[in-house]
Amino acid sequence: MFCSPLASDHQDHHQDVSSAAEPSWPDVPNQPDITCIPPQVLGSKTLRFQKQWFQEFPWLHFDASANGVLCFVCGSAARQGLATLAKCKKDSFSYDGFRNWKNAREKFGKHQKTTAHQLAVNDLQAQKQPTVTAQISSKARCDQLLAQNALLCIISSVRYLAQQGVSE
Ligand SMILES: [Zn+2]
Repeated sequence: MFCSPLASDHQDHHQDVSSAAEPSWPDVPNQPDITCIPPQVLGSKTLRFQKQWFQEFPWLHFDASANGVLCFVCGSAARQGLATLAKCKKDSFSYDGFRNWKNAREKFGKHQKTTAHQLAVNDLQAQKQPTVTAQISSKARCDQLLAQNALLCIISSVRYLAQQGVSE
């Protein structure tokens, strides 16, 4: 009932599939005024997201559609389909949205120490610095050239010695 066949038939033909699937993912973490972030009611208490958590955990990203906070790093990596992050996909910090403000600070601290998070940080950094990869490959090319020159040098030495051997 929610799926209109007309919409899928006549639209999206010119759109990138991945961008159509994830239209709302930004380039930087969304850290709005905390009044935008829904409070959590626990019995007689109302728990709120604390503003300083944004400073303490700069990867926190409020996602209105998830109605909670996500890890911007893990979320970005998961949406880019980086292979090392299969585990991240089930994480509430990647997709579902985290909104349990009780012990939230502790949970945030725990999350940023997970292997999945650290891998996501590494993968995104590697992706942002293509020059490092370029440098590595140019270094490899340089080594290859040096090896070729060394080989040529050996070959000419062998030839020289062989010629010496022939002439004497
Ligand atoms: Zn993370």
